[in-house]
Amino acid sequence: MHTPRIYIDTDLAVNATELIEGAKHHHLRNVLRLKAADAVILFNGRGGEYTAAVKAITKQETQITALTYHPINREAPLHTCLLQGILKRDAMINALQRATELGVSKIIPVQTQHLSEKRAQLAGRWDAWRAVIEQSSEQCGRTQLPELAPLTLFTEAISMVRNADFDLQLLAHLGATESRTPPATPPRRIAIAIGPEGGFSNAEVEFAEANSFHAYTLGARILRAETAPAALLAHLQTRFGEFSEENL
Ligand code: SAM
Repeated sequence: MHTPRIYIDTDLAVNATELIEGAKHHHLRNVLRLKAADAVILFNGRGGEYTAAVKAITKQETQITALTYHPINREAPLHTCLLQGILKRDAMINALQRATELGVSKIIPVQTQHLSEKRAQLAGRWDAWRAVIEQSSEQCGRTQLPELAPLTLFTEAISMVRNADFDLQLLAHLGATESRTPPATPPRRIAIAIGPEGGFSNAEVEFAEANSFHAYTLGARILRAETAPAALLAHLQTRFGEFSEENL
């Protein structure tokens, strides 16, 4: 069986026993059906991971002892910040999962003019999105969790990026005519903006372009809003990151 990886937000140390309660404990006990002595991997997002073993599992808690530390790093060297237009529930989950697997560093969920969710429903979503990122990081072997920023208005997110230290800012937009001319020096920090199901409004495209974003095409076909971030992140990892020829 694949060894389960478990994220735990605490300092970890060899021979220390950690207690896991709540939803994560229920998942380990009732879904994965872990038992005493089963092997697991613990990580806390602060670098590396630990081989570990279940010490005991009761109705209330799972006790896990860290055994050996491995200073492994599976993070992508290319820093990528995804401004993701808020999507419907399942599409947003897919977008977050794929972006996490592709090594995204930070995700800013952005409220755009075309919004397919009711504004009143958005408040409770952040915790669910954070849980998706955590589970996806456990599954794909990440050693750090992508940062999830608070829900942010599109214009504020664009301005935040403008004031941060990015080498390249791209707005995925159908029909954009951006050329693929390589930048003079390879970018190390890239911000990308992906629209919601209804796309960006003209005013949003103009605002982004006035704030140093380049409209960027992902080909002639319309990608689903949850496909677009994965496609663009994979493309950037190929051009400038860990999928590039010099790294393979
Ligand atoms: N009718 C919408 C429009 O015209 O923008 C379609 C939106 S598409 C389903 C959702 C988002 O995915 C877009 O806002 C864009 O960011 C991205 N996207 C999808 N296909 C794309 C493509 N071929 N080139 C660039 N971006 C694309």
